[in-house]
Amino acid sequence: MSARVGVLALQGDVREHERVLGALGADVVRVRRPDELAAVRGLVIPGGESSVIDKLARQFGMREPIRSAISAGLPMYGTCAGLILLADDIVDGIAGQQTFGGLDVTVRRNAFGSQVDSFETDLDVPALGAPPVHATFIRAPVVERVGAGVEVLAALGDGRVVAVQQGALLGTAFHPEVAGEQRFHRRFLDLVLAA
Ligand code: GLN
Repeated sequence: MSARVGVLALQGDVREHERVLGALGADVVRVRRPDELAAVRGLVIPGGESSVIDKLARQFGMREPIRSAISAGLPMYGTCAGLILLADDIVDGIAGQQTFGGLDVTVRRNAFGSQVDSFETDLDVPALGAPPVHATFIRAPVVERVGAGVEVLAALGDGRVVAVQQGALLGTAFHPEVAGEQRFHRRFLDLVLAA
């Protein structure tokens, strides 16, 4: 696997994604500028704070290039804040918060409130097979509405959707990368190779 892929490096847990993608043999670069985006065949949008990534993307002139890349079918994988940024609609964003969009879903930001704002659980992800994914949720969103073209990859025991895919866009409410889980990143790289 030698495809060059990028991690959006405006804010968030960039290094953890670089580590997993590198371990899978990808050629990984940090993306902060439009010319850097133009040089990659796929983009990971890390977790962090979606409202900050949104603001910085606008300041760095990255919002429109990212939206164009999504329209053009560039594979992307968003974790947590990254999922929020890929969602067409958000609930409980800060005033004026925008997303890049692309995934026909509505995501509720900080859906677990302050009492259980972070937790870990083992999640069955049928598309990835056994064993379950060790999923780390950190002030995580949930997917509240799933559009017709969107595949649900995983839900919590109570039915709340936490992983989705629509075409070349993949999103998880949790962070697989912090526990070294590689299968979502492998799936992303498969999308890159297929594109
Ligand atoms: N709560 C954060 C947000 O709104 C997401 C947290 C995370 O990415 N771990 O962007």
